[in-house]
Amino acid sequence: MTGENQKSQPQRAASSCRFCGAALSTSFVDLGSSPLCQKHVPLHKAQEAEPFFPLHAFVCTECWLVQLDEFVVPSEIFGDGEYAYFASYSESWLAHARRYVDAVSERFGLDRKSFVVEIASNDGYLLQNFVKRGVPVLGIEPASNCAAAALEKGVQSRVCFFGSETAKQLVKEGKRPDLLLGNNVLAHVPDLNDFVSGMKILLADTGVITMEFPHLVRLIAENQFDTIYHEHFSYFSFSTVRRVFAKHGIVLFDVEELPTHGGSLRIYGCHEGAAHATTERVGALLAKEAALGVETPEYYAAFSENVRETKRRLLEFLIQAKRQGKTVVGYGAPGKGNTLLNYCGIRRDFVDYTVDKSPHKQNNLLPGSRIPVYAPEKIFETKPDYILILPWNLREEIMSQMAAVRKWGAKFVVPIPSAKVYE
Ligand SMILES: [Zn+2]
Repeated sequence: MTGENQKSQPQRAASSCRFCGAALSTSFVDLGSSPLCQKHVPLHKAQEAEPFFPLHAFVCTECWLVQLDEFVVPSEIFGDGEYAYFASYSESWLAHARRYVDAVSERFGLDRKSFVVEIASNDGYLLQNFVKRGVPVLGIEPASNCAAAALEKGVQSRVCFFGSETAKQLVKEGKRPDLLLGNNVLAHVPDLNDFVSGMKILLADTGVITMEFPHLVRLIAENQFDTIYHEHFSYFSFSTVRRVFAKHGIVLFDVEELPTHGGSLRIYGCHEGAAHATTERVGALLAKEAALGVETPEYYAAFSENVRETKRRLLEFLIQAKRQGKTVVGYGAPGKGNTLLNYCGIRRDFVDYTVDKSPHKQNNLLPGSRIPVYAPEKIFETKPDYILILPWNLREEIMSQMAAVRKWGAKFVVPIPSAKVYE
């Protein structure tokens, strides 16, 4: 009966894999529909409607790329200066960038004669560290307000999207980088093949590519469904990302597993035939993924139900807290928080407000849930019973920064992988 019901439900028209072009028909998880997660609602627009878009991830059973349909054009996401994400407001992310610049400068001998290009350079949070070392840099950043903030740090940026056309233009200007990097951008690219082919075109002959992105294996293992949102088109295992770069003539010669963003990969790529020896970590991670079954449909099958159970547990906690007359507020206004709140149907009936250190997010309403965002001081004024940490990847940083809330007995709650109260 259940099977028949599922069959009789309306199915979307099959679209094709953004990497290999195979028909996409295997659902990974359906998170309903929600607004674009970076589109915070200013108070003067509080009476206006917001567009909602379906949020449904599929897995390609040919190349195993987990992906969303491309139904929102990037100009709509980034184009009007409302893009709210400024990387510099997370202290742990800034420290991560500093450590990366130290390590990669040492390993690849980057100096004043080198040239570094970062794709999606945001507000210059990372490239400023190269500038301090005297290494010439160029940021490529589509959001003009982020690029303007970068310039204040001495980081020159070009305001555009990256792809093969931008790469050809830079090559024409003689700008081929010894290090070409991009952190948390690969997932955001609608035309994956054009983007990676652009990296191939741009990279100097002996240059190195590094990219960081969330690791699909961790997303699945820890129910990180809230990292799925409209701006994230692709979700990669190492096996799949290696195949994507190989198709464009880039060899991945090293990989690191990082704790950032709930578990990320940092890949190192070079031109085929360039002199970079492949490390043991490449084979080891491929073997680990193969043992998990990342190239079998079974590996993806249980995720949907795990997500639904995570939702039920969070709602169970919130319903119980409200029945006991407790107050609950949020901490943080990250993209992932909006997927969580909208998918779970959590609004001001459960969470009075949230706070964020970024002034760009304060005094707006979260998209969809319409939960107001204030400065962190608000928590010390209202003294809530529970603080729901939305950027759960920064849990330890936030709990130590906000340790003073323990004075009135407030407790922290983390929603993922399963609602947990920190006593
Ligand atoms: Zn595919």
